[in-house]
Amino acid sequence: MIDLMAETPSHLSPSSAAAFDQCPRRWRFKYIDRQPEPSHQAALVGSFAHRVLEFLCGLPARHRTTEQAKALAKELWTDFADDPDYQALELGEAEARAFRWQAWLSIMGLWDLEDPARVDVVSTEQKVTVELGGVPFVGVIDRVDRCADRLVVSDYKSGTLPGVRWRSDKIQQVMLYAAALARTADEQPERARLLYLGQRILDVAVTDRRIEEAEGQLSETWTAVSDACSTDGFEAKPSVLCGWCPFVSQCPEGTAELARRSTEGTLPAHAPAAALVA
Ligand code: SF4
Repeated sequence: MIDLMAETPSHLSPSSAAAFDQCPRRWRFKYIDRQPEPSHQAALVGSFAHRVLEFLCGLPARHRTTEQAKALAKELWTDFADDPDYQALELGEAEARAFRWQAWLSIMGLWDLEDPARVDVVSTEQKVTVELGGVPFVGVIDRVDRCADRLVVSDYKSGTLPGVRWRSDKIQQVMLYAAALARTADEQPERARLLYLGQRILDVAVTDRRIEEAEGQLSETWTAVSDACSTDGFEAKPSVLCGWCPFVSQCPEGTAELARRSTEGTLPAHAPAAALVA
C-alpha cells in the first residue's frame, strides 16, 4: 500500500505561509517534494541589495554612507557572483552589468526613503523562532530600529509597490515579525514598515487587533497545511500566476488554465510559461 501522507513541516515562515495560501499544489512541489525552482533574476537582485544593506546598517551610524555602500557592494560581489543560483542565470557580460546596475539602484533606493546614518539600528537580519497563534514560526527580520524609544520593525522590498488591494498580505507578513519580536524581546514594536526601495515606505501602527488578525491567518494556514499533509490533498489554485509557475507541466489544472487564458487573450505574453501554449 502506498503511503500518501506527507510529513507536516516543522514550522512556517512568512514566505512559506504566503506560498501555501497562493497555491497548495505549488507549495507541495517546492516544500514537500523539494523540487528546485529556477533562479529568478529579480529575486536575486533583491537578495544582493538586501545583503549590502544588512552589512551597511550593521556598521556604526557615521559609516552608513553611499561611498561605504559602494565599497561593500564591491567586496560582497565576488562571493555573490560565485553563488550557484547566480551562476544558473548564465548572464553574458552586458547582462551581468545590467544586473549589478539594477542592484545598485535598489541599494541607493534606501536614501530616497531615509538617511541610514540617522537611524538608531538595534539589529539586522534578526532570526526569530517562536510560537505564534499555536504555530511554530521562524522568520528573519531585515532590521529593527529604535525611534523615540520605541521599537520599529522594517522589511526591505526591492519589487514594485503593489496596488492598494494587494497590500494587506504584505502588511500581515510584517505584522507577524512584529508579533514575533514582541514575544522574544518582551517589548511590542510601535510600528511596522515596508521599505519599497526607491519608491516609498508603507508604515503601519502595530496594534493588538492587527497582530491578532495576522496570527489568526497564520493559524488557519497551519491547519490547512496539516490537513493537506495528512490527506495528500494539495489543491491546485489556478490563476494568472500559473504563467510563472515552474511546475506547470506537472499540473493538469495549471496547464488547462494556461490554455484557457491563451484562448481568451488574458495570459501576459511576458509570462515565462506563455511559451508553452504559444
Ligand atoms: S500551475 Fe498553477 S495551479 Fe498548478 S501548481 Fe502551479 S500555480 Fe498551482
